[in-house]
Amino acid sequence: MSTPAVISVAITGSLPQKAHNPAVPITPAEQVEATQAAFEAGAALVHIHVRDDGGAPSSDPERFARVQEGVLRHCPGMIVQFSTGGRGRELERRGAMLHLRPDMASLATGSVNFPTQVYENPPDFVEALARSMSGFAIKPEVEVFDAAMLYNAAELVKAGLVSAPVHVQFVLGLKNALPARRELLEFLVRELAAVLPGATWTAAGIGRHQLTVNRWSLELGGHARTGLEDNVRFDDTRLAASNAELVARVATLVREYGRSVATPAEARRILGLRAQPA
Ligand code: ZN
Repeated sequence: MSTPAVISVAITGSLPQKAHNPAVPITPAEQVEATQAAFEAGAALVHIHVRDDGGAPSSDPERFARVQEGVLRHCPGMIVQFSTGGRGRELERRGAMLHLRPDMASLATGSVNFPTQVYENPPDFVEALARSMSGFAIKPEVEVFDAAMLYNAAELVKAGLVSAPVHVQFVLGLKNALPARRELLEFLVRELAAVLPGATWTAAGIGRHQLTVNRWSLELGGHARTGLEDNVRFDDTRLAASNAELVARVATLVREYGRSVATPAEARRILGLRAQPA
């Protein structure tokens, strides 16, 4: 019996996707609606960035709270994950919403170049974020944008700042960071097992690599991430109509690889989370 596949949906992101696809949800109401549709299509985990009224990336805890409340109400059991990602957000504000105690929060364990800027995560900042998550009983999702981040995560576990088993997200195909190469993913998965035994993992492919990376992950025993944050195109000819459409496509793929789509309860067990949201 293979492990059910957890489908994560990254509904919004912080890059200016809206300019490329009007289906990207921006307001909290739009985000809740998009999440509910994605949940009904099979997503067990939602990865959330929020925007301000002008559409710029925001750290406003009040906005995060509104989306969290809506998801709790409309998507029973769904795993809520807040992004602590940068891209226009001040360092000291990036963890300002962690007191809301989402199930998970993203934690990039190092710095890397993004397509047009530096994604800055200095060591003391990473440690402070990890400490804050631990204090609020939030499970980090370690974001691996570069190989060093994997080994940095193992050091955080050693230092007692992150609890094992760890959950990792490999991000492939982002310009200036890791390329979408299967050999690279296979190497990272082997290294993960060596330095973080028992860890679970997902891989995200950016842009046109999304579906390819989904396939590799499902075949290699990992989980799958989709969503308009990573890719606004459904195929080569048209924009995705919604996050739910992307989730439905991945759900089909999951079955194609002989696996089942994890329910929220199964996803919570696989990721070692509490059975119900706080
Ligand atoms: Zn994100």
